[in-house]
Amino acid sequence: MLIVMSIYIGLDIGGTKIMVASTDKNGTFLKRIKVDTPKSYDEGMELLHNLIKEVSGGVNILGIGAAAGGPLDPEKGIISPLHQEEWRNVPIKKIMEEKWHCPFYVDVDTNVAALGEYYLGGYQEKHFLYVTLSTGMGGGYLVDGKVYHGFSHPEVAHQCVDYHCSHPERIKCECGGGACLEALVSGNGIKRIYKKNAEHLLNHEWKEVAYNLGMGLRNIAAILSPEIVVFGGGVALGRGQELLDRAEKYMKTGLKMVPAPKLKLSCLGYDTALKGACFIATGEHIRKYVSFT
Ligand SMILES: [Zn+2]
Repeated sequence: MLIVMSIYIGLDIGGTKIMVASTDKNGTFLKRIKVDTPKSYDEGMELLHNLIKEVSGGVNILGIGAAAGGPLDPEKGIISPLHQEEWRNVPIKKIMEEKWHCPFYVDVDTNVAALGEYYLGGYQEKHFLYVTLSTGMGGGYLVDGKVYHGFSHPEVAHQCVDYHCSHPERIKCECGGGACLEALVSGNGIKRIYKKNAEHLLNHEWKEVAYNLGMGLRNIAAILSPEIVVFGGGVALGRGQELLDRAEKYMKTGLKMVPAPKLKLSCLGYDTALKGACFIATGEHIRKYVSFT
């Protein structure tokens, strides 16, 4: 019988779901739990502690990693996830380290997902952008496997694009900024514009989504010049390579000064952020962290 002496814990703290998992030193999941995110902060924090206890099974914890919604400070370990109204300026690193007596690391969910995809997935290009396209949209950019943090977390989804839309009056971004890319291609954006979920879009509606995504990718390619863009999240994984192929066609039109990045689907599927959280629990990414501020 295999006896696991020490484990790592990963937390994916989302606005609607919390996922907690334990892994061995090789990153293999030992136990995982998924629950609804409580609205109240006190309830949420108590739940996190209980879930950590449950997935650890009383075994020694070597480190805990967490993916959370931004904004947050990865160095101080303070989070204020936008979609969790009661979670403001939560010193989660201090709370977790005092409670569990092990190192704790946290970063924006899309950065953690990017690290997961890079170190545990199948792609390791030097200039690597991970994009999640689900109810919302976000990205994590790595250079040589290091997170590009920027002055604040770069929001690739909140750029303005030259869009095609059959119902422009319905375009509204949740950030309040108007016609952002997210408002055109994310699950919530699609629902607002087309009055249906992404999986029910008709071909001509997908064509608009692909065009708008392609325009966003053209901007990203021109500014960041990644070698590859890896896509995760329900909308991207649901429509699959067909969406990426169409978007690629539009991205390439007019992109003359820089080479077009490869567009690929995630190797880790829906577990990217959770796997990434278990990976950063090891602290290995710390020596790879870099901030260009
Ligand atoms: Zn926006």
